[in-house]
Amino acid sequence: MIYKNKSQLARVETENWALANLFCPKCSVAFMAEKANTKVFDFRCACCDETYQLKSTSKKITRKLLGSEYYSFVNAIKNNNCPNFLILEYSIVADHFFVNRVIYIAKEFITEDVVEKRKPLSVDARRAGWTGYNLLIDHIPLEAMITIYEESQFVSIQNILFAIEKSKNISKKDWGNEIINIIRELAVNFSLSDIYKYEEKLKILFPKNKNIKPKIRQQLQILRDAGKIDFLDRGKYKKLDFL
Ligand SMILES: [Zn+2]
Repeated sequence: MIYKNKSQLARVETENWALANLFCPKCSVAFMAEKANTKVFDFRCACCDETYQLKSTSKKITRKLLGSEYYSFVNAIKNNNCPNFLILEYSIVADHFFVNRVIYIAKEFITEDVVEKRKPLSVDARRAGWTGYNLLIDHIPLEAMITIYEESQFVSIQNILFAIEKSKNISKKDWGNEIINIIRELAVNFSLSDIYKYEEKLKILFPKNKNIKPKIRQQLQILRDAGKIDFLDRGKYKKLDFL
């Protein structure tokens, strides 16, 4: 097939590759041969009924990923209809299409916090008023970005399932878990200022919270009451029965 341009080549090749190779990471069942072509998802798993949206990019998956229509996507999140994501990184070398990596992000991690509304298209555009979104990849916890394909091969099913299980332990919305994860990185005796160093990271994870420091102190009190840490002195703490 002769393609009009690289973006058409990428689109057709991505779909062909996905249909021939991709599967539901949760139950390792291949997607059905038909692409669903709905507004918010591309594939549905015949086994567990989960839906998937496939995105492809020629750039390395780092900060932002261009999504499609904003309003239908946000509605899907609000109605608990958000699809899981499969993000495919490709390169085109001398008109040959190569898949570099595929990442799976479970729908639990696709919240309104990670969706950025883009400017509506200008009145001159063919689809004037149409509004897209960016997926804020850097707002999604790393453990939630599960590589399922890399270096020309799929990651083993066992490893994928293990990573999925592990990602369930981190709920992005959960302050307690985030603070525990931070404490795990610190020495047995730590201070409040050690945790305050993570303020920027916490701001990204909880963009709606404007009182990060008081929230940190509150979580430390909860952990003390639960017997997880001890208060030694003003602003000085000690880890107890975990890690
Ligand atoms: Zn499935």
